Amino acid sequence: MTITGDMLIGQQVTRGQNGEIFGVDAGTGEQLLPSFGGATLSDLEKACQLADHAFDDYREVSLEKRAAFLERIAANILDLGDALVERCMLETGLPRARIEGERGRTVGQLSLFASVVRDGRFLDPRIDPAIPDRKPLPRVDLRLRNVPLGPVAVFGASNFPLAFSVAGGDTASALAAGCPVIVKAHSAHPGTSELVGRAIQKAVRECNMPEGVFSLLFDSGRTVGQSLVADHRIKAVGFTGSRTGGVALMHIAAGREEPIPVYAEMSSINPVILLEKALVERGESIAKAFIASLTQGAGQFCTNPGLLLAVESPALVEFEDHAVAALETTSAATMLTPGIFKSYCAGVDRLQNHSAVKVLGRGNAGEKLQAQAALFTTTAKEFLQHEDLREEVFGSSSLLVRCHDDKDLKAVLSSLEGQLTIAVHLTGEDDQTLKNLLPTLEKKAGRILVNGFGTGVEVCHAMVHGGPFPATSDTRTTSVGSLAIARFLRPVSYQDFPDSVLPEALQNANPLGVIRLINGSLES
Ligand code: NAP
Repeated sequence: MTITGDMLIGQQVTRGQNGEIFGVDAGTGEQLLPSFGGATLSDLEKACQLADHAFDDYREVSLEKRAAFLERIAANILDLGDALVERCMLETGLPRARIEGERGRTVGQLSLFASVVRDGRFLDPRIDPAIPDRKPLPRVDLRLRNVPLGPVAVFGASNFPLAFSVAGGDTASALAAGCPVIVKAHSAHPGTSELVGRAIQKAVRECNMPEGVFSLLFDSGRTVGQSLVADHRIKAVGFTGSRTGGVALMHIAAGREEPIPVYAEMSSINPVILLEKALVERGESIAKAFIASLTQGAGQFCTNPGLLLAVESPALVEFEDHAVAALETTSAATMLTPGIFKSYCAGVDRLQNHSAVKVLGRGNAGEKLQAQAALFTTTAKEFLQHEDLREEVFGSSSLLVRCHDDKDLKAVLSSLEGQLTIAVHLTGEDDQTLKNLLPTLEKKAGRILVNGFGTGVEVCHAMVHGGPFPATSDTRTTSVGSLAIARFLRPVSYQDFPDSVLPEALQNANPLGVIRLINGSLES
């Protein structure tokens, strides 16, 4: 399929007239052709109007048809074949295996949401039948189900150009919930965005979905993205990216006449706690696994281990030596965009020149736009005094905080902001220590791991990819896994309704065959 640089507004293919955006070859920094036309406010108006019109029909589409639509999107993405893989590699600098793996994950995610839709449990139907002869007062008939929120604006991530972008987790879960989606394409991978957008646009046509269920806009500045969040027809926002960007959109959404939820996944340094006995038992293998996790994908994972915490011991000194030895064998790697490379270098320079920080080791240097991994160290005392040491450096950079004792370690943990993940490396003798730490860990993170690293986020039912601010803007949710659908739903109660007017999920005969909570007990 040819990339034309056009936007997709419903079934229209339109050239944006508001400036130009170019994809950039991540390896060389050179502009790629064609250029993409930026949306005008009138393009945005059309997309919002179409999404608004589509909502009433799309929310009523049968669960089977909605599931088949998600599966059709997945099939159309696979049909794009190598054209998608190659454009994506060019725009991101990510290797083929990574892009192919991510495509598999994207398609798998769409299939997972198709199965969630068919299953119907996301509707969470609850029935408390009337009790007319209850004393002293009769009980009314009350029935509840979840309904979709309305059109959703999606801002994809630069670091997952497929799985967290145009047809990524936010789009898949919003469409599964019954919400039309308008995507503001990430300027770091416009060609990839257009190809995936066309796969969705084609699926809309093939499955006879309402036209405005999907649109894709390019923005040559920030006005269109911000106006999208401010538009009264948009009812929720999905975002993955920087803290600054996420917070800016949160403020716009909160300042609207009708405030709406922004589900932003932003910044996390993913602490890893190394207990002494684990370092004595297997310090070298933990060190190697740590460096592998740190440098995977040039460190461009939101779950990258950016902070190590350990109490001082001879085993910690040995761990440091092993980690530095492993680090020194790593190659520099191309970063996603020149902008991300620049902010990585600035973050590393800041730590390197920080009065409270020492360099432990560096990976090998590379070519232009290739990042060199870095490991730094400081003490708990300094860490507690310098707030800037808690900031995310997006890329392969990590800081080891040496604690004097367990009390120090707890103080450091307590000082941290919200995190996507916290990992603890321990032995079979450390269960009590883990139990003692658990209340603090639960307060800080969305996912707590034992003897592992947070990179590698399984898409499944029990995954939480979320956490307290600034990991995300809403600590009650996840952006990965089937629970992500809950972000785009709200409950409605129906009191004393005639059975024939009730939504199918709540009718007495249960025509959907969905599991329901009846008088407090689960029944199908
Ligand atoms: P970003 O700059 O926040 O951009 C994400 C998306 O939001 C893009 O579409 C961007 O538009 C848009 N945007 C950003 N600020 C905006 C604003 N003020 N108003 C309206 N729209 C706005 O994130 P990024 O480009 O993906 O990466 C930049 C940095 O984010 C990285 O260096 C890293 O620090 C961090 N990051 C963190 C994670 C994580 O999960 N923790 C993941 C990725 C990136 P444009 O396309 O026009 O830029």
